[in-house]
Amino acid sequence: MKKIVIIGGGFAGAHIARRLQNIYHVTLIDTKDYFEFTPGILRTIVSPKHMKKIQVLHTHYLHTTKLLRGEVTEFTAQDVFVGKKKIPYDYLFVCSGSRYNTPIKEKNVVLPNRADSLRKAHHQLESAKEVLIVGGGIVGVELAAEIIDFYPQKHLTLVHSKACLMERCDSQIQNYVENYFEKKGVTILYNQRLETKLGKFLLSSGEEVKTDLCFFCIGISPNTELFRKHFSSCLNERKQVIVDETLQLKGYPHIFVVGDLNDVAEEKTAQGAEKQAEIAVHNVLALEQKQKLESYHTFPKVMVISLGRFRAVLTYKQFVLTGFLPALMKWFVEWKTMMRYR
Ligand SMILES: Cc1cc2nc3c(=O)[nH]c(=O)nc-3n(C[C@H](O)[C@H](O)[C@H](O)COP(=O)(O)OP(=O)(O)OC[C@H]3O[C@@H](n4cnc5c(N)ncnc54)[C@H](O)[C@@H]3O)c2cc1C
Repeated sequence: MKKIVIIGGGFAGAHIARRLQNIYHVTLIDTKDYFEFTPGILRTIVSPKHMKKIQVLHTHYLHTTKLLRGEVTEFTAQDVFVGKKKIPYDYLFVCSGSRYNTPIKEKNVVLPNRADSLRKAHHQLESAKEVLIVGGGIVGVELAAEIIDFYPQKHLTLVHSKACLMERCDSQIQNYVENYFEKKGVTILYNQRLETKLGKFLLSSGEEVKTDLCFFCIGISPNTELFRKHFSSCLNERKQVIVDETLQLKGYPHIFVVGDLNDVAEEKTAQGAEKQAEIAVHNVLALEQKQKLESYHTFPKVMVISLGRFRAVLTYKQFVLTGFLPALMKWFVEWKTMMRYR
């Protein structure tokens, strides 16, 4: 039986493991032992018990997959290395995703990568009076809205390097979100970058921002350190992995690179990662049956940007819907996705 190794148990890796586990000998290697619904993690900063609703152990839905917890540090065209362990493969799927990164190492700086890091910061948030969010993209906006919805008495400052929030979104959405924050008393500082000097948070204007707790929602980078040793020529200048339309690593038809870490030019989303995973599964089966491979094409996606518990903005192509209904839909998507894994 062919040996399949999957690196990363997020949206892409978990999907591939579920689809292939009854056909091949599948090993899933992940730094954590559970699947997490990332779009729901921001709620855990205000409601730590929400974590239970968005995490499920890999053992619950992968009954025939061999599970290995650990970090892959390197791989070759034949083997994957986890510490001193060498795992041979016939086909490899690299699905290690991406993460927020910052060179700033202050104690009161939080990166919204995992529910666990947000949950740990919950007590700090409870006692904080001044909260700073760096980055006015979708994640920065959703996080600011979660905090101000639960803690309307806190003073929240949002620093963004551009002239408007979520600059890739329609102006109707930007206006709706900016009005929402204005009503909630959130201070938004546009066209400013933030750096720290001697523990102080400084804007590009030179002004200091006093804060008890700071969230960094900028600087997302692909988890491609494992390519450095043997496949550094496969990375572009943004450290993304260069793939063919079929999601194969250039020059290595038996290696697929799927999800946030590849160079497919699209907004990186959970939906995109799952769709790519499905194409990669199709292609490995096609290779085995000597059939034609399928190409991945980007597609218009429904986006729901939540603004706390009871409000959201849904957008699809030119269509925009605001208010309670999209908030309800986001909750439904979370519930439906988690039901697939339970
Ligand atoms: C706060 C936040 C909110 C978001 N909201 C939305 C949303 O509302 N809608 C939407 O569609 N998308 C949203 N996204 C984006 C979405 O979560 C990602 O696009 C999606 O998770 C990508 O899936 P993936 O499988 O490529 O990577 P991931 O889901 O990140 O999975 C990567 C996995 O690989 C593991 N891993 C990493 N390196 C290694 C290694 N060296 N060895 C072993 N394992 C490794 C990680 O632990 C992780 O389990 C959000 C992202 C964030 C951070």
